Amino acid sequence: MSLSPQELSRYSRQLLIDGWNQEKLRQSKILICGIGGLGGATATYLAAAGVGEIRLIDYDTIDLSNLNRQILYSTDDIGKSKIQVADQRLMALNPEVKIVTRACRIDDDNISDLISGCDLVIDGLDNHSSRLTLNRAAYETRIPYLYAAVDGWLGQVSLFAPPQTGCLACLMPDLVNSQSPIPVIGAMAGLIGSIQANEALKYLMGIGSSLLNQLLIYHGHTQQTELLSLTPNPLCKICAT
Ligand SMILES: [Zn+2]
Repeated sequence: MSLSPQELSRYSRQLLIDGWNQEKLRQSKILICGIGGLGGATATYLAAAGVGEIRLIDYDTIDLSNLNRQILYSTDDIGKSKIQVADQRLMALNPEVKIVTRACRIDDDNISDLISGCDLVIDGLDNHSSRLTLNRAAYETRIPYLYAAVDGWLGQVSLFAPPQTGCLACLMPDLVNSQSPIPVIGAMAGLIGSIQANEALKYLMGIGSSLLNQLLIYHGHTQQTELLSLTPNPLCKICAT
């Protein structure tokens, strides 16, 4: 499989990166769950980079209060389906990519079907309950799960791929009490989404070092980054068998 003249031109600047494998990226299938501030940023960079198939899941419509951070959408889009607008924007950005959309809320009944055949599951969610659903399905299907979350000035990213690592439930087994609605700065969602997209690209092409068994914590108010080592929880109800 070789790249067309259009692809060679479109991707010319990233093809200069050592170890970059555009063909491998084009063959990759990913799922992004939640196309808000975080998922929208991640989806934009992964579509621009040429990930072959991007499945998008979101059930919501665009609201004025989304626009401080959800840069896929504009004021004219208020009231429209996020999935439909995201599909149009990403296809306009890169028609080489296949976008598959599902307007639904993930649950225990539909999630296995939605993630089937993916190389990587990407978390663009805004609540821990749905994250635990996604984490469990990713574990059961042995598809790596790229977690990210933003809360105020705090951002977190990790890559879970049991049995090589623990899972999200090892780290946060129960529902987390957070302020509702969660405070979000647009720049923080974009920053953490960009880190998540970068992590996805490295994982899909097998280059660089990954966040497997590590939790990246970014403190936006001080611009400080922590990298915590993670170990599987032997009492985890999901992955400790
Ligand atoms: Zn676990």
